[in-house]
Amino acid sequence: MRSFDYRRADSLAAAREGLGEAAQIIAGGTNLLDLMKLQVMTPKQLLDINRVPGLREITETENGLKIGALVSNSDLAADPRIRSDYPVLARAILAGASGQIRNKATTGGNFLQRTRCPYFYDTSMACNKRQPGSSCTAIGGISRMTAILGVSEHCIAAHPSDMAVAMRALDARLDVADATGDVRQVGMDELYCLPGERPDIETTLAPDDIITAVHLPQKQSGAVHVYRKVRDRASYAFALVSVAAIVTRREQRIATAALAFGGIGSRPWRNSEVDEMLAGEVPGEPLFAAAADRLLAEARTEEGNAFKTRLTRRTMISVLREATGLEPASVGTDRVEESAA
Ligand code: SF4
Repeated sequence: MRSFDYRRADSLAAAREGLGEAAQIIAGGTNLLDLMKLQVMTPKQLLDINRVPGLREITETENGLKIGALVSNSDLAADPRIRSDYPVLARAILAGASGQIRNKATTGGNFLQRTRCPYFYDTSMACNKRQPGSSCTAIGGISRMTAILGVSEHCIAAHPSDMAVAMRALDARLDVADATGDVRQVGMDELYCLPGERPDIETTLAPDDIITAVHLPQKQSGAVHVYRKVRDRASYAFALVSVAAIVTRREQRIATAALAFGGIGSRPWRNSEVDEMLAGEVPGEPLFAAAADRLLAEARTEEGNAFKTRLTRRTMISVLREATGLEPASVGTDRVEESAA
């Protein structure tokens, strides 16, 4: 690890003042410290915001729930209001990392964790995200954990967060304080950039922006929440595919559907056309299969991740079956297999 200066900020104003070009905010540090040990990130200064007051509370507001950026992943998943009103979020968080990491990892930091593409962590390999213009070793290389949606010829890395997938389905909005102290709201649909030609630029945040809180909208009464994560082992593994679904019903039809996906997108993935296809329709396999077709229409695969189109389709249909209360027997596994991309 390269040497660095370490400072603590005891207020947001002090944090803003300390955030120069070379400074990097640290909160939980569960991803940043690994990256520093490997010299993937080499900040000259760490600015610790753990003592900034007012960022560890979860409060009820007129519009829903406000979660401070320093609330740990463990505390967020355990909060009774999250467990009862936003269970998709609690389940997504508990599907990620280990208990020890969740105790340290913060809500704000979770949004900003970096990809787990192995070439990004190996400084002997070319990686456009780490070193722009150097090329992408994952294209044509080991790509099992990479994305199939929102990729470019410069980067196919997948966003690793589970929490952010649930936040995307929930239409969460972030409070972001800028260099002058003004706070603006940034929606989950506005936070992440596609890799394009500059995969090193991952979010729309400025270097001196600080995430201070996340807002969840009022709970939807009667909504069924499902979070399903498919991975190579039962715990402490990143998603091959994950699906967050929030579905409401009216009589025999789907009233509203919000689906977000992890493990397959360069950012927590959501396609509003998929949600719109499902709304107002009678649930059933033809509808679910058509929605999966729409989701995967722009998928771009490598040899090592081509299985993800099929796995995504099957997982999505299974989640929709659960969320809409369809009996398992009404959607035959064979038929799902047959329609797999
Ligand atoms: Fe780097 Fe992205 Fe290519 Fe991985 S997929 S090697 S992160 S450029």
